[in-house]
Amino acid sequence: MNNKTDLNDRYNPSEFEEKIYKLWESSGAFKVRIDKSKKNYVIPMPPPNVTGILHMGHGLQDTIQDLYIRYKRMKGFNVFWIPGKDHAGIATQNVVEKMLEKQGIKKEDLGRDDFVKKVWEVVEKHKDHISKQKIKIGDSCDWSKEKFTLDKDLSRAVTHAFVELYNRGFIFKGKYIVNWCPRCETALSDEEVDKITENSFLWEIRYPLADGDGSITVSTTRPETMLGDTAVAVNPQDLRYKHLVGKKVNLPLTNRVIPIIADSYVDPDFGSGAVKITPAHDPNDFDVARRHNLPSIVVIDSKGKMTPQVPQPYRGLDRDTCRERVINDLKERGYLVKTTEYTHNVGKCSRCNTTIEPSLSDQWFVDLKSISSRAREVVENGTVKIYPKRWEKIYFDWLDNIREWCISRQLWWGHRIPVFYCKNCGKQIVSESEVKRCPDCNSDNIEQDPDVLDTWFSSWLWPFSTLGWPLNTEELEQFYPADLLVSGYDILFFWIIKMVIAGTTFTGKPPFYDIYLTPLIRDKFGRKMAKSLNNGIDPIEIINKYGADALRFTLVYLSTDGQDISLDPLKFEMGRNFANKLFNAFKFCYPYLKETIEPIRYDECDLYDRWILSKLQTTVRNLDQYYDNYKLQFIASSIYNFIWHDFCDWYIESCKPFFFNSDKETANQAYVRKANILTYIMDYILKILHPLMPFITEELYQHMKSNNGNLLTIQKYPGVEEKYISDIDEKKFSFIENLIVSMRTIKAELNLHSRKDLEFFYLTKNSDEKNIIEKEKDSIKFLASIKEIKFIAKEPDSRFSSSVISDTILYLVIEDLVDKKKEIERLKKEIVKLEATKEKLSIKLNSEDFKSKAKKEIIEKTEKEYSEIEKTVEILKDKINKLT
Ligand SMILES: [Zn+2]
Ligand SMILES: [Zn+2]
Repeated sequence: MNNKTDLNDRYNPSEFEEKIYKLWESSGAFKVRIDKSKKNYVIPMPPPNVTGILHMGHGLQDTIQDLYIRYKRMKGFNVFWIPGKDHAGIATQNVVEKMLEKQGIKKEDLGRDDFVKKVWEVVEKHKDHISKQKIKIGDSCDWSKEKFTLDKDLSRAVTHAFVELYNRGFIFKGKYIVNWCPRCETALSDEEVDKITENSFLWEIRYPLADGDGSITVSTTRPETMLGDTAVAVNPQDLRYKHLVGKKVNLPLTNRVIPIIADSYVDPDFGSGAVKITPAHDPNDFDVARRHNLPSIVVIDSKGKMTPQVPQPYRGLDRDTCRERVINDLKERGYLVKTTEYTHNVGKCSRCNTTIEPSLSDQWFVDLKSISSRAREVVENGTVKIYPKRWEKIYFDWLDNIREWCISRQLWWGHRIPVFYCKNCGKQIVSESEVKRCPDCNSDNIEQDPDVLDTWFSSWLWPFSTLGWPLNTEELEQFYPADLLVSGYDILFFWIIKMVIAGTTFTGKPPFYDIYLTPLIRDKFGRKMAKSLNNGIDPIEIINKYGADALRFTLVYLSTDGQDISLDPLKFEMGRNFANKLFNAFKFCYPYLKETIEPIRYDECDLYDRWILSKLQTTVRNLDQYYDNYKLQFIASSIYNFIWHDFCDWYIESCKPFFFNSDKETANQAYVRKANILTYIMDYILKILHPLMPFITEELYQHMKSNNGNLLTIQKYPGVEEKYISDIDEKKFSFIENLIVSMRTIKAELNLHSRKDLEFFYLTKNSDEKNIIEKEKDSIKFLASIKEIKFIAKEPDSRFSSSVISDTILYLVIEDLVDKKKEIERLKKEIVKLEATKEKLSIKLNSEDFKSKAKKEIIEKTEKEYSEIEKTVEILKDKINKLT
């Protein structure tokens, strides 16, 4: 396996990523086995829609899950990342319906069985598409363990759950107002409805009192549903109408008489303050009707047409046509008082964009409230932890407002509801197995409920149905509950909380212990990524352009605890640059890397060695804490800072004199020591970076002479070697670092970057600092590219540039170095430029518009920028003074 071919000249991920994944798979590195000698670590992968394609949200969620799976695998856990896909009822059915539509075929033409067969065909074709994309990200799961929510064993779990809840009295059938799509002809959950702002009208209609003594005017946005009104409602506190409550009105265009009632749901400030109550076509009216025992009249049918319940002229009309007709008739007969323009939110079917018709129908429900108390308890008592913590409050809020869950869908694709009806005697039988005969009358005229279950009714069982529940399998015993669930917060309500309810209800245990909610990924302007805006970023395109490691690194680096990620595709360059930096560092180190990692002779180490060892070990120690607390951004940034700044910018640079100037043949002590340390650190770097950037690290590891022919992905994650952590050395080094940076800054400011012959002086009363400088003189001279640094007892007499580092003052005498006139001119130009920027900022800061509209952080940032420019100008002026 040891791949001793030469490293490529340049970092080119497309040359090795696919090859590396195959290497892992063929080695069996991701195989899941039951291993009782190890601790388990389990993550159920949120099952993507089977016909879906990968989006950036998957990119982020999969990276985070893979990060933990790889970290724990290397830490010696027996990991199981349960992969699978969701049959996604309505979404998949729609894909197939649309496909057939193009051929001029309706699903009714095929009939239920053939249509479902057709869907399976499409599903089979799509099935591996999204997994292949996930492989490109690097998902390290055992794909042979993949599950599908419509698999036989998962279907058995769904039926079992239904029957169990039914038998315990938590599932019931009832008339209910649901979101109905007249095009898809199915009930939709709230999450399947998009709220769209629409410009429409508010109509005011006069309803005459039945006793002939005046009238009451109602306000409505849906005049066509007045045909199904069963009351007029006012607020009980509304003095304008108090005397009318209890009276009756003649409902215009019909010959019905309906009551005026008082209910606090009515907003007295909305229109006239009186509203019509149409229980069958408005969820709020439905609630009002339940409180007041009002009848419901269905006036719009499942296709959006007016029913026989309405007066003759309106029957069979489309709901929109009916609206026009009703308005005309009201106008003609003098009932229409006023029409005003009005903007409001209208529910649209998220699949087909048809306006939702709230509608009364027979549906199956789960009484979530009665089975949710344990779901609250497990979070309250800390058994289940939610990261970031602020989501806990939202979790509890949702449980407080929990409602019945409508689980029936009028679709053909999904789990059939396990309820059977005897057509002979009317008996309803709920059964896990198919019913052929009626237990009461022995008739074989049995029909199964035509509806299917909401997709979430299968995915809420995911963490245990995938392991064989309700059977007591070995896998269930080993791998349940899971350790972590990673998901976007947008499905906290309709998936995550339901899984906790299901877990505690059916298994007595929470389904997982940690929940990590990822931010949502928005476009660079902060807008949601949506097809309609065409602002999505395709992860596969990013991988093709920058590599999977760049994608992974950048996404994790941008994952702060709080805000959503506003993603500019250019940000992936950062990940690519980092991979590139590591690649080049490896190439530099490669000739010095040894075949075995020898023990480090710490007592022979110089300050740079001790410092980098300390930095490395501090980083490893911190990483464990960041993993434990889901501080994702810090996982990425701490590795990044260590590799880029500490290791590449400083340590490797400091090694160069030893490697370049030493005679390799004689293998002097420092050379050997540094080669040893490079090997030791490179081995650590590849291991600690592997979970985050698996491809490049494996590729480089295959070139480590010390790899013994092994794969990195199954190596042990290195522990912390506390003995190397030294605050003193880190402090000492930090002093040198600041000193060298100051020298570089002074040189840069005076346009003397390229001068290597400069002589610096320093003045200090701190003997420790003096000792450090004297001891590290050679390295300081090398790293700062100067000729000399000398101690002086007092400030130089001639003109100088200076800088203060801790207790030490650094001087560069510039009398003969700088052309005074030219330098003053340069500084003056600089000041003019800065003053102009300052002026612009000042105008901005004083503008009322900016002060009132800009975000607090933006204002603070601008203020800071302003004061920094002010400071710099002062410094430059001071420099001019010193020169003159
Ligand atoms: Zn629809
Ligand atoms: Zn019967």
